[in-house]
Amino acid sequence: MNSEKRIAKALSISTDTKAFEMGQGVYTQASRLFAQYFPGRKAVIVADINTWPVLGEKVYENFMASGIPTDKYIIEKEEFHADWKYVEMTDLIVEGRYDEAKALENKTDYQDTDPSKLIKEASEEYNVLVSVGSGVINDLCKLASHHHAQSYVCVPTAASVDGYSSFGASITYLSAKQTFNCPAPVAIVADIDVIAAAPKAMTAAGYADLAAKIPAGGEWMIADFVGAELIQDDAWHILQDYIDDFLANPDAVAAGDPQAIADLFEGLTLSGFAMQAARSSRPASCCDHLFSHFLDMSGHRFNGKLQSHGFQVAVGTLAMCAAFDELFKLDLTQLDVEACLAAWPSLEQEQERALKLFEGTAAPKLGYESITSKYEDKEKVREDLTRLVAVWPEFKARLQGQVYSFAKMQDLFRRAGAPYETEHIGVKREQIRDMFPIVQLMRYRYNLLDLAKRGQFYDSIVDPIFAEGGAWAI
Ligand SMILES: [Zn+2]
Repeated sequence: MNSEKRIAKALSISTDTKAFEMGQGVYTQASRLFAQYFPGRKAVIVADINTWPVLGEKVYENFMASGIPTDKYIIEKEEFHADWKYVEMTDLIVEGRYDEAKALENKTDYQDTDPSKLIKEASEEYNVLVSVGSGVINDLCKLASHHHAQSYVCVPTAASVDGYSSFGASITYLSAKQTFNCPAPVAIVADIDVIAAAPKAMTAAGYADLAAKIPAGGEWMIADFVGAELIQDDAWHILQDYIDDFLANPDAVAAGDPQAIADLFEGLTLSGFAMQAARSSRPASCCDHLFSHFLDMSGHRFNGKLQSHGFQVAVGTLAMCAAFDELFKLDLTQLDVEACLAAWPSLEQEQERALKLFEGTAAPKLGYESITSKYEDKEKVREDLTRLVAVWPEFKARLQGQVYSFAKMQDLFRRAGAPYETEHIGVKREQIRDMFPIVQLMRYRYNLLDLAKRGQFYDSIVDPIFAEGGAWAI
């Protein structure tokens, strides 16, 4: 199937996005699509000091030349992130309250407001946002548009994340990174000339974000196996059928080859469409992303800088590939189910463990809440483990067909210019080791580590990664 057919098929199952234009020099399509989906409405181009000169200004001029009433808002902060303050700032931009938005942008003593207070009824009077930028600007525009019961147009400037087309916005609220449900943009216009010229580190980050879907797919298969979150065929096939091809040219991606960048961007977009189809981030992330979320939550910096989503996800992805490598060494047909059940802790014990693990973090109750929602009683554990023992050779073969080895993933990242050692994002191997138990409990979502805890083989898949001869021997 070629790219056009894949995209047409993807659009047919995506629930929010109606138009996806991708190619060299296609940025002028944004005004046409705006006029089509928002006739008579006023546009506001939202960019930052980097994306305005690169593309924002051109899009603005093209909108003006097309006769669309258009304003602009340029975020002037050197460093800004998807924090709640900026969501509220973007809400003000929708309402045309630019001075208040600018005051909020520069405010230093901000306290996160109640999200429900930002929900407004739809009105033709509101501006329609045109986000020109990378993942953060897009997420801000996505959520602020949703608060006003309207959609927006997305003009990405880098192949850095899969969030452009995804359902939901990843925002830090009350110190914890959370996904807020909100629809994807109605139209995405991806100008490959601009995207291929983005800083190489951003492209490499996008490559890693796409590669994360390899172990995330394996963990979805596990969640499906135990019935926690069933695989939805549409959402699975739309990306997983092609992902190996999209990841096959890391050298060309690193070189900024337009075709390779277009393939990468298409893969990231299909990942977003998969999330739209599933109405969840399940198709795109699992533990691979939670390492990154934990680093976000800890305010991790390297050389004074916060690390990009994709770079942190690269390390999480490698950690999970290493865990799968260790899983595949086990013969689970020999699992003693009764012994596992005897060792299975009570919910109260697990809650206590979670509280201890998260003590002193920015979200001390997070693990407690996750384990409370995903804890299972002995009968369910018995049922799952018994079936696991019975079908392990076949199930293992299917998982092996999905998940790349640590060595393969590391080689791909090295060639793509993405981090392939923990130190590349300023994290010690010991820190990744210590994050594993936290990562298990960071989300309600069932993951490989949950299965390992039930089968009492958690230590057998985590410890060897950091032992002599392991992927990240300490
Ligand atoms: Zn991601």
